[in-house]
Amino acid sequence: AEEVGGGDKEVVREYFNSTGFERWRKIYGETDEVNRVQKDIRIGHAKTVEKTMLMLTEEGSLAGVTVCDAGCGTGLLSIPLAKEGAIVSASDISAAMVAEAEMKAKQQLGSENLPRFEVNDLESLSGKYNTVVCLDVLIHYPQSKADGMIAHLASLAEKRVILSFAPKTFYYDILKRIGELFPGPSKATRAYLHSEADVENALRKVGWRISKRGLITTQFYFSRLIEAAPM
Ligand code: SAM
Repeated sequence: AEEVGGGDKEVVREYFNSTGFERWRKIYGETDEVNRVQKDIRIGHAKTVEKTMLMLTEEGSLAGVTVCDAGCGTGLLSIPLAKEGAIVSASDISAAMVAEAEMKAKQQLGSENLPRFEVNDLESLSGKYNTVVCLDVLIHYPQSKADGMIAHLASLAEKRVILSFAPKTFYYDILKRIGELFPGPSKATRAYLHSEADVENALRKVGWRISKRGLITTQFYFSRLIEAAPM
């Protein structure tokens, strides 16, 4: 098995506990130890987080709202969600990422409304949340696995799902730049792009429809952001 959910999941886990953790901790951090490309990705990703927070808060206050942040990384979304009063369940396949997120959350939130952190892959998540968010994780899933992953995320959500992914519309642009984003021959660093129609179909199959769309692009970062709701 060469895909996430098969053998690749172990490879992805290993990557995000080692070299991938170091790379992304820097990109998602605040220090200057990033190159021009990494800096650009940091800015693009920050826009995705900002847009996600807008999509969520324009529907009303997040105080007391349960949110699952699936694949939370270093906590860049979980922390602002908690600041808005959301009851956050944050998880990631990488123990290193979860530890980093937890440390940052304690630094920035004190003991105030801390997210519940857990090392867990998406497929093992259970329970019900008002809102499920999964930012920039689909890139590790080929479309064949993405359908099941999207269906599973929808099954955990009562009201809305917010997803972001690298859109296939920018295939050639991304290919040209991908070498810098995911260097090396490693399977873990293989990036999968998704067409919006495929994601929309996966949602429709389980009775969900896209209710909001956003697109975030910088020089090296491309992300389609969608919010979906039950039909
Ligand atoms: N969502 C975070 C954000 O936007 O700041 C992190 C995005 S980062 C590019 C991708 C994250 O997905 C990594 O932290 C990685 O460990 C996690 N990940 C990859 N495959 C996963 C899986 N099957 N289950 C849970 N997390 C996964």
